[in-house]
Amino acid sequence: MLKTNRYGKKIRTLYNEIIAKQRAKYECPKCHSKTLRRVSFSIWECKKCGFKMAGGAYTPYTEIGEFVLKMLGER
Ligand SMILES: [Zn+2]
Repeated sequence: MLKTNRYGKKIRTLYNEIIAKQRAKYECPKCHSKTLRRVSFSIWECKKCGFKMAGGAYTPYTEIGEFVLKMLGER
């Protein structure tokens, strides 16, 4: 997905962490089950209670994804 090497090892490591975070499941703020999943860009949905929320592009609670994408100039 990331096709450039010009950002060096650190940024690629960070990018890989984001991808891992994107695929991970998160705790639902409503029912506190680890069932919160990303369903589309910035939209997170709980598979248990159906709660939907807008969050970060890659993780529901942090802005690290936004930060890296800005650095990469992809947004
Ligand atoms: Zn829930």
